[in-house]
Amino acid sequence: MKFYRPTSLKQALKVLAGDEDARCLAGGATLVAMMNANLIAPSALVSLAAVKGLAGIAKRKNGTVAIGAMTRHQAVADSDAFDRGQAMVKEAASHIGHPAIRNMGTIGGSISHADPAADYPTALVAVDATVTVESAAGKREIEASRFFTGYLETALAPGEIVVAVSIPATPSGAASAYEKYARVQGDFATVAAAAVVALERGVCSFARIAVGGCAPTPVRVAAAEAKLVGSKLEPAAVAAAAAAIAAACDPIDDFRGSSAYRLAILPTIVARAVATARQRAEQRPAEQRP
Ligand SMILES: Cc1cc2nc3c(=O)[nH]c(=O)nc-3n(C[C@H](O)[C@H](O)[C@H](O)COP(=O)(O)OP(=O)(O)OC[C@H]3O[C@@H](n4cnc5c(N)ncnc54)[C@H](O)[C@@H]3O)c2cc1C
Repeated sequence: MKFYRPTSLKQALKVLAGDEDARCLAGGATLVAMMNANLIAPSALVSLAAVKGLAGIAKRKNGTVAIGAMTRHQAVADSDAFDRGQAMVKEAASHIGHPAIRNMGTIGGSISHADPAADYPTALVAVDATVTVESAAGKREIEASRFFTGYLETALAPGEIVVAVSIPATPSGAASAYEKYARVQGDFATVAAAAVVALERGVCSFARIAVGGCAPTPVRVAAAEAKLVGSKLEPAAVAAAAAAIAAACDPIDDFRGSSAYRLAILPTIVARAVATARQRAEQRPAEQRP
């Protein structure tokens, strides 16, 4: 196996363009474990550690927050760049694994691996994030909801690298919550729910919900969000939204819970995420209240 440590994206893309079996090495938290378990044997590893410009968090004038692919989970969890709707991504980062993993894993590595029980995919789909990918042929933008295509599968084409993730600003007064149910602290989610809501005079004017751990990709259902907009987020409206999401889920049975168990707890996890987001929206600063 060959090992490359390029210092520019151009060099990294050139190696990947010339070898379909080469893999990017980001934090190594998953890739190295899979190699140790003989699950994969790449022909070459292209370390992204020394590639300039891939790490860091920047807030643009329009409120969009751009996160470089090599940004560690802990840096996202510690960042003040996010508005209150976007802050769900920061909250999701703080739930990933334990401190060693958060200091090792990167957002690019997490979403490229695309585990449906991982925290970023669910959060990014809920906040309408966009993934920027680049290959020797050029750059393209992919909506997070289209980036995750199946169990451990993404829209990445051979030779493409994730370079950044962009999170658009949420409406004034929006707030968010990420609710994760896991067997033990530090484990992947059995079920997770990510919610963003905004309220105007007690009535929901904006809603985004995604659920993780219940299908090969994060599940987001427009009809569920439509059930919340115009409601006062009363239990019946939230239960109807959760039922619409559950109808689109197809959970597996595994050691984290059976399919039936996941579907049984999903409404509670969704309701908790919406309730926390609502509570945070109601606590917004006076200048943001309608
Ligand atoms: C003990 C343990 C507990 C964990 N707990 C959680 C958890 O609770 N929640 C959670 O969400 N995650 C969890 N993880 C996963 C972890 O957070 C990392 O996100 C994940 O391992 C991948 O990130 P990485 O940077 O280490 O990527 P790597 O392991 O280096 O790479 C993973 C895959 O992505 C590819 N890749 C990496 N970067 C790029 C890029 N920029 N462009 C294209 N392809 C790329 C690699 O080729 C490889 O196929 C856990 C991992 C471990 C080992």
